[in-house]
Amino acid sequence: MKYHIVTYGCQMNVHESEKIAGILRAKGYEEESAIGDADIIVFNTCCIRENAENHAFGNIGALKKLKRQKRGLLIAVGGCMAQEEGKAALLREKFSFVDIVFGTHNLSELGELIERKRAGGRGAVISLLPERLRTEEGIEPIRTSYPNAWVNINYGCNNFCTYCIVPYVRGRERSRRAEDVLSEVGSLVREGYREITLLGQNVNSYNSDGAGGMDFPALLERAASFPGKYRLRFMTSHPKDFSAELCRVMKRNEKICNLLHLPAQSGSDRILSLMNRRYTREKYLENLQMLREEIPGCAVTTDLIVGFPTETEEDFEQTLSLVREADFATAFTFVYSPRTGTRAAEMEGRIPDEVSRERIMRLIALVNENARRASARFLGGETEILCEDFDQKKGLYLGRNEEGRMGYFASDRNRIGEFLRLKVDRISGVSLFGEIAD
Ligand code: SF4
Repeated sequence: MKYHIVTYGCQMNVHESEKIAGILRAKGYEEESAIGDADIIVFNTCCIRENAENHAFGNIGALKKLKRQKRGLLIAVGGCMAQEEGKAALLREKFSFVDIVFGTHNLSELGELIERKRAGGRGAVISLLPERLRTEEGIEPIRTSYPNAWVNINYGCNNFCTYCIVPYVRGRERSRRAEDVLSEVGSLVREGYREITLLGQNVNSYNSDGAGGMDFPALLERAASFPGKYRLRFMTSHPKDFSAELCRVMKRNEKICNLLHLPAQSGSDRILSLMNRRYTREKYLENLQMLREEIPGCAVTTDLIVGFPTETEEDFEQTLSLVREADFATAFTFVYSPRTGTRAAEMEGRIPDEVSRERIMRLIALVNENARRASARFLGGETEILCEDFDQKKGLYLGRNEEGRMGYFASDRNRIGEFLRLKVDRISGVSLFGEIAD
């Protein structure tokens, strides 16, 4: 029996697919890379943007023929889209051949749902929990990204940014117990993982529910204290919860990467207020100043949205000027996409598509210029990279430095999982190319 998992969306989903793989492996399934040869196909969906949903719907629909041809094939749909209000009913109506629908709060039930479906009965087995008070523990993931590993520290979100569907589909914030997180990090280090990323919708508010037992800076510092060489990253941070203590912890622990992903979303206070982000442009820049006073040269990356309802040219110019002032190493840029059920979707002042498109092109040009400049700083010098993979197309190994820059080099033996010093002699786009120092 074989499984095939199709994953959409963020790192959180990628890691949850590793857990789904763990559940399926425990039920005796083996991984199958060709979707047509699998006995169970699981879609782990995303609903953060309409595009991601349409994509998933298209791909699920395309399986109708295969389902008819292949007796015993099971199709399961889980994740954020399945959890979204009304989507399970829509899935049942549009795709009557889907066998199992499960949500974000009951991943651990998947094995049981498979049993129920196999036990017979027509129609889909649908299981969605409206909320979950505790974190789901005890699912052994099948990790697929050596030398990198992800560890959840908290789930859900209490922030209700007006454009975001996450609090509705992931529920209120729940922290894992620090001892569970630390025991997982410790095991990963002992198993030889070289880069561990602590994951949460808002890692900075870890333990806001009291369930963790310590705050985020304390957890991060403990996670950085295991013997051996490894790197520690974390995402995502909310600027309103960023603290001086976190900067100090980053500074005094060399295993914590000098890279902070701090989503700004906009440079205009008026838009930030409409987004319910609960910080101002000034406060955001103060955070960066505090960070760079502690760790000069610390790389900062961000997320930016253009075309939020009522965004004027002046508001957008404020975002451009924030990009110039903040000196981001890179930024992930998005055109605002209304999500039904969020407050922003009800707001007036929709920005015409052509205006948003024109703005995002200008923003991307500026972000790219900054990113190229940030990469150029490495030219002629050496930087430590962790080798992660082999790029078949380029015929080169690749890895990232602690600032997140991708570096490529040739090697006649497998270097995956090794920390290496890259002598950078060429930059292409934002990537670094060179030779490995002896
Ligand atoms: S902090 Fe805001 S953007 Fe991030 S998950 Fe929560 S509501 Fe969404």
